[in-house]
Amino acid sequence: MTEPVQVPSRPGGSAVWSPSVVPPIGVELTDTQALAIAFRHLADIGFAENMAGHITWQADGQTEMLVNPWGLWWAELTASDICTVDADARVVRGRWDVTPAIHIHTELHRARPDARVVVHNHPYYVSLLASLQLLPELVHQTGALFLDDLCLVDTYDGEIDSAARARELAERIGGANLAILASHGVIATGRTLAEAVYRSATIERVCKMAYHVLLTGRTPAPMKRSDMAGMQASLIERAADVYWAGAARMTIKADRRVLE
Ligand SMILES: [Zn+2]
Repeated sequence: MTEPVQVPSRPGGSAVWSPSVVPPIGVELTDTQALAIAFRHLADIGFAENMAGHITWQADGQTEMLVNPWGLWWAELTASDICTVDADARVVRGRWDVTPAIHIHTELHRARPDARVVVHNHPYYVSLLASLQLLPELVHQTGALFLDDLCLVDTYDGEIDSAARARELAERIGGANLAILASHGVIATGRTLAEAVYRSATIERVCKMAYHVLLTGRTPAPMKRSDMAGMQASLIERAADVYWAGAARMTIKADRRVLE
């Protein structure tokens, strides 16, 4: 038997190129302002099913986390609407209440110290593939962002409204940064807000394209794994931060009241 030939991964990310200068957001943001911008941006691009879902952000070394309150749509949130919950989902700061569905986040943060930010909602094309119990086929180079980093939770058993049920879900997700939940939606994680927002925005586009490719009934052109690995590094190390900065600039420009 001949040994399989190991193709070295094509290098990518900062090992190949780093910009000498990047366009700044232009405003020094507090954490609550940055989070309000993330909600508005993801709502703007069609990621949010009205007021469903959460983004939580646990600062390094903290167990408390910032979160959106119950009852407000992602598109209308401002910085002063953001609440803080403790590791057991009790509201410790803020003027609104938070639903028990937040346990999805508290338990994932507990299980995954690397996941400082957790995003959950029910974007349309992710949910469409989720209803078919499918992970998207990675048919375009941007899909390399999810190389070896996708998880399908292929059964649905109702609302996750307790810590025990959320712990089971966190175990099924394991170390993946992107989980698709059958009959439900998506969970994206990141070490930073920029990373988590970029994964969230990208997975909906990846699923939309995979769905349309599926409709053609034709086989998409293959990509080499070794090429995808370099692209994945470039997307995480170079694209996420500049994506976020642009999203923040445009969101502030559209409605500065997001900062209030
Ligand atoms: Zn949900």
